[in-house]
Amino acid sequence: MDAPSAGVYVHLPFCPYICPYCDFAKWAWDGPRAAEYLNALRAELAGAPPVRARTLFFGGGTPTTYAPAVIGSLIDRVRTRFALPSDAEITAEANPDPGLAGQLEALRDAGVNRLSIGVQSFEPAELRVLGRRHTVADVAGAVHAARAAGFTNLSVDLIFGAPGQTEASWAASLDAAVGLGVEHVSCYGLTIEEGTPYATWFARDPAAFASESREAAMYALAIERLRAAGFEHYEISNWARPGFRSQHNAIYWANDSYLGLGVGAASYLGGVRSTHTRDLDAYSQAALGGDPIPGESERLEGPKQAGEAIMLALRTAEGVDVDAFRERYGIDINERYREVVDDLVAAGVLSADATQLRLTERGRFVANDVCGAFLAG
Ligand code: SF4
Repeated sequence: MDAPSAGVYVHLPFCPYICPYCDFAKWAWDGPRAAEYLNALRAELAGAPPVRARTLFFGGGTPTTYAPAVIGSLIDRVRTRFALPSDAEITAEANPDPGLAGQLEALRDAGVNRLSIGVQSFEPAELRVLGRRHTVADVAGAVHAARAAGFTNLSVDLIFGAPGQTEASWAASLDAAVGLGVEHVSCYGLTIEEGTPYATWFARDPAAFASESREAAMYALAIERLRAAGFEHYEISNWARPGFRSQHNAIYWANDSYLGLGVGAASYLGGVRSTHTRDLDAYSQAALGGDPIPGESERLEGPKQAGEAIMLALRTAEGVDVDAFRERYGIDINERYREVVDDLVAAGVLSADATQLRLTERGRFVANDVCGAFLAG
C-alpha cells in the first residue's frame, strides 16, 4: 500500500520561561535535557511510519529555543525520510523575544517559510499579566527582521479575555496586528487550564477574568475588525489574507492524515488517532531505546469517525459539504443527524441547506457545544 499523504508535526517542547496560563507539553529550557530530547526525536523520526509529507509544522513549546541549524537538520531529515516537496509550507512557531530577530535569516535559509509568532497582546500591561517577557518593540523588530530575511508569510497569535483586558485594548491589539502587515492572525479566547497558576488565581478571584459575555463581545470585535481589514475568517480562530490560509492546519480540519513526532504529539494515520505520552522522560527513553512511544490510541470508525469529521469541518468557513461527506463516509447528514441539525438551526447557531452545513457567527463562539452535539448524535 502507498504511504499516506500527511501533514508532519514536530513538537519542540522547551521554552525560555513558562507562562502561567499554559497547558501545552512544555518545559523550561535545560541544555542537557534538550540535547537528549533532540536525539530521541531523531530516533523517532528514523523509525516512524512512512508517509508522504505535504506540510511540516514545528510547534511547542518554543521551537526557536533550538538553534536554526538544529531546525534545519530536522527539516533535512523530514525531506529525506518523508519526501517533503521542495515548495511545501514549513512553519515554525516563534516567540518575539529580543533574540529572535537575529535568528531569522538562518531560519529562512534552513527552509522555514512561514512563522507563527506568539505575540498575544500589544498592550504592555497585558503582556505582563500573561507572564510574557517580550515588548511591543520586540514584536515590531521581529516582524521587520522577518521581512528582511525574506519571510512573506507571517502569522501572529493574539489572546482575548486576559485579566484587565478591555474591549478598547483588545481593539488596539487587533489594529496593531493589522498595522504590522502580517498575512495571518489567530485569536484565541483565554481558557483556564487545570493545574496552571492561572487556575489557582481563577479559583481565588474569578472576577479578575473576563466573563463569557465580555469574551463574546471581544470575539465579535475580532470578526468585525479583521473583516474590515480584508482578512478572511476561514476558521473559528483563524483569519488570513487571501492565499495565506494555514495549509498544515487545513489538513486537521479536513480530517486528513497527519504524523506527529515528539512528546505529547498526536497522529491520525490509517483511521487510528494516537497521542504520545506527555511525560518527557518516558518519551525520550522509549524513543532512544527504539520502543513504542507510550500513549493512547483509538481507531475512529462508524458514527464516531463521522461525528469527528463533521466537528472538524464545521470549524471552517466552508463547513460541511453534504455530498462530499456522503461520498467519503457513506452517511447522509441530513438524514442521520436530522434532529441535531434542526435543533441547532432553531437555536440560531447553525445554517443548513441540502448541500452545506455551516456555523453561524453566533455558532462560532459556542463552536465546541455545537460540534459536540454531532459527536453525541
Ligand atoms: S511560550 Fe508558549 S508553550 Fe511556552 S510556556 Fe508560554 S504559552 Fe506555553
